Order: sequence, then structure tokens, then C-alpha cells
Amino acid sequence: MKKLQKSTFGILFFLFANIIFSQTGTLEGKIFDRKIDIGFPNVIIVLKDNENKSYGAETDSNGYYKIEDLKPGSYLLKISYPGIRDKVIENFVIEEKLKEFNLIFPEPCEEKNKVCPKNHTDNIIPIVYGFPNKRMMNKSKKGKIKLGGCDPSFCEKWYCKTHNLNF
Ligand SMILES: [Zn+2]
Repeated sequence: MKKLQKSTFGILFFLFANIIFSQTGTLEGKIFDRKIDIGFPNVIIVLKDNENKSYGAETDSNGYYKIEDLKPGSYLLKISYPGIRDKVIENFVIEEKLKEFNLIFPEPCEEKNKVCPKNHTDNIIPIVYGFPNKRMMNKSKKGKIKLGGCDPSFCEKWYCKTHNLNF
């Protein structure tokens, strides 16, 4: 009985000490691959505080990540992977607790109609992504398509030749 009491006290003290001394937050979650909808490994997640200090993690083979011992406050959150446009969130708030943040990466695209933001439907050509072959090069030279490059995170589908706009 005495022994039990002692260990109960120990546990209570430990919890109490935890509340007092560990006033930090933890960020964890999962990054999903937009194309195949499963965990995205080797994505870099970085939190930068106001003093430009960085705290980071890399997703594991199932897309999970965890960053611990974060001072409560406002951070710049950056999610990056080679060849994909970074996802940046400003004023990302960390509190003295666990925060879960999941993301589909790159972010899904909205459906877009073939209408220029300046409100007309003529002189618009499709943007084609990927490494260009000879046929794509020829079409591009003739002004029938616009080459969009190899970054799969861009959502723009159309190019307006009148206003020089991707949309
Ligand atoms: Zn236009």
C-alpha cells in the first residue's frame, strides 16, 4: 500500500512537472500525394519563427511527420519537394499542445472553363505540361499550344494570347 501511494505521488509529480516545464507545442500529420492519394514520403516540412529559426521534419515512407518542442507562436510553414512548387502558409499558429495538419500535395486544382479572366473566349490555347516532344515543340511554335513545363503543381489549363495570361 505504501509503495502504491509512493508511485501514485510520483506519477502526479511527473504530470505536474510536465505542465509546468514543457510549454511547447507539437505539430504532426500526414502529407498525401495528389496523383495517387496515398502518403507522400520525403516531403520537407519547415516552420520558421519570427527570429528566422527553423524547425523541420521529413515525411516517412507513409507520409507522416512530426515536429516537437515548438515554442507557442506564429510561424511561416513551408512544405516542399523537389520539382513541385512550394506550399507556403503564413501566420501558422502553434499552441502549447498537439496540432494536426494534413495536406494533399500539390494542392488539388479547381475545374476551369475556357474563359479568359478578362471575359472572352477567343484567342485561347491549352497549356500542355510535361517534357515536350517534337510534336509539342512544333505545335508550340505555331502557337497552337503553350508549353507549361514539367512542374505538376500548376493548375493553369489555358493561355490567353490576347492578354498574355495563364488561367
Ligand atoms: Zn484574355
